[in-house]
Formats: sequence, structure tokens, C-alpha cells
Amino acid sequence: MKQAEAPPDASWSGPSHAGVKSPSPIVTPDPALRFAATAARLDQLAAGHPMEPWLRFVARLSRAQHAVATTLAPAAILSAADVTRATEARLPPLAADGHPRAPSWREALTTLLNHISVEPDSPVGANTPVGANTSVGANTPVGANTPVGADSSAKNLHETPLPPATLNAITQLRTSDTTTLETLANNFLRGHIPLSDTAATIFIVAALQVYFTGSAARLAASDLRLLEERALCPCCGSPSVAGIITATGLIPGTRYLYCSMCSTAWNHTRAVCVTCGGTRKVSLQGIEGDPGVVKVEACADCHTYSKLLYQVRDTQVDPYADDLASYGLDLMVSEEGFARHAPNPLLLTGDSEEDIG
Ligand SMILES: [Zn+2]
Ligand SMILES: [Zn+2]
Repeated sequence: MKQAEAPPDASWSGPSHAGVKSPSPIVTPDPALRFAATAARLDQLAAGHPMEPWLRFVARLSRAQHAVATTLAPAAILSAADVTRATEARLPPLAADGHPRAPSWREALTTLLNHISVEPDSPVGANTPVGANTSVGANTPVGANTPVGADSSAKNLHETPLPPATLNAITQLRTSDTTTLETLANNFLRGHIPLSDTAATIFIVAALQVYFTGSAARLAASDLRLLEERALCPCCGSPSVAGIITATGLIPGTRYLYCSMCSTAWNHTRAVCVTCGGTRKVSLQGIEGDPGVVKVEACADCHTYSKLLYQVRDTQVDPYADDLASYGLDLMVSEEGFARHAPNPLLLTGDSEEDIG
């Protein structure tokens, strides 16, 4: 857009003269790209990786998320007044554990389970058949009448069959009533996941990610404000999975943190600890001899770390995929006594990793 074509929008707050633009502090997600990008990157990173089965499974989950995001497109509907009220109070308008979730997130779960059960052979999102029961009402147990079971799944999945624990979790979710599903979602968002629910929770997380990403995409970044607690998403208040150091844009070398739930990106000053805001004892660490795409920023003041992904070293870098694929770095730094700033929500269910692999 040329300067002369600046929109006549009253909320336009950018500088009116050329040459001194600063990068947007907040970037809302594009649901049509977010999950497809993660799936493609996971497929790329999985080949020959020590965690290949797990990464392939998450790639498949991401493809199912993409299908839901681009067909059902579940989202919360916030009024402009809701958003203004929240931002004036410096609160995230889509507070993940606070806002009343729209029932569409459960439809998202139903559709997601249908997609993950029957893997299409086609490329991501292309002519993906939506499951038969996407019109299930809010009061109908999810998928109660869906005839997709272990047998029909395995038939389509001879390359990467879902293990029994995962199939059991899918069946459990399909036959759960509304109250049970809402409880599973609330437990996850409040950080209390009973061990018996870990296998099912990964699908709850996946559905919520699609729902929150769709919800965030409906908001205008210019209506949002960074929170005083800069480590938390200005849109939904969740922690980030990782930060990207940009290679392009108005100011290359800017750090953006990526929300673990709603996929919003927001600016965070470099060399400032994401957890405590300290700057004195922050250091970068990586794995010697690797290409240096992923490093950790470790803080010896609060003994936490977060990951940095360098776009200049790999333009395909994806915060969600590269975070999972660099799990070895997490192990290395945790052995040195650092705790991760916040878990990746897909790894909260890490107890069942062996089952999935
Ligand atoms: Zn968020
Ligand atoms: Zn710190």
C-alpha cells in the first residue's frame, strides 16, 4: 500500500510519514495457513528424526486441524465492546480460561476426530471429506452414532496405524457427553490433567487450538494491546511455545513470541528473559555443530529458558513444528537445571508418547 492510500479508518494509528514505520507489536493468525504450515514443516523435520513417529502423528493432527479450521472454522464471537472493555483493563479479550467458550469448539472436536480417524490420501486440505456427523447438535454426545472404529481406521492407515491407546481415546471422546468434554477442556486450561485423561487431552488441545486461532483471527491486531506481563499472549493470555527472530519485515532481527493456543504473535524485546524480565544473566545456548536454527535463551536469575528460532538460518521455520522437533535441546538444558518457561500443550500429554510412537 502506498502512503497516499492509507485507509481512512479511524483506528489507523501508524505513523503518517514514510521511513519510520515500526513493526506491528501484535500479529493475529491466519487459520488458513497456520496448521498447514505446521503439518508441512513437521513432515519435513520428521524424516530420520529420533522422534519420527511422534512428529508424524502431530503432522497428521495438524492436517486434521487444518481441515477443521478451513471448513467448520469454529470461533468465539466477541463484540467490539467486549474487546474494548478487556483491553482497557489490560486483560486478554479471549482469556483462554475465562471467556465463555462457544459450543462450536465441540463441533470442532467431532470433525477433528473424524479427520484423524480417516486420513485422506490427498494433500493437506485438498477436497478433504468432512465426516458424516459434523451437524451433530450441541446436546448430542460427540460422535455417538459415528461408525468409524478401529477397523475402518486401520484400513486407511496401514502406513502409520494409530496405536490402541490413541484409538481408545478417540472412542472415549466420541461417546463423551457435553459436560464431560467441557470438564476436560476446563481441566486442561487450568493445568490439571488427570493421568487417565492424558491420551484424550491431546485432541481436546488440538480442537481448542483451532477454536482459539479462529477466534483470534476475527480480532483486529490494532484493537489489541500488549499485556503488562509481556510473556503472555495479548489475545488469549496463554504462554508462547517459542519465539522467532525475523529475517525479513520492517526490522529484521525482531523477536516475536507465538501463542501456544490462539497462534497470535507478539513482539518481545530480545535478550530480555521471557519469565522474569531480567537482562543481566541471559545467555544463548545451542547444540554444537548443528545449523543453529534453534537456540535457547537461558536466564540464570530465574533458571528458566525459552526457545528462539532463527528465520535467517531457515526460512521455513515454524514455531510449533520446530519447537517439538528440537526436544533434544529441552533435554540438554533441563539437565543443566533450567526449567522451560511454559510447556508446549501438545507435550503435556507426553506421558503417552511411547503409546503414540
Ligand atoms: Zn493467544
Ligand atoms: Zn529470568
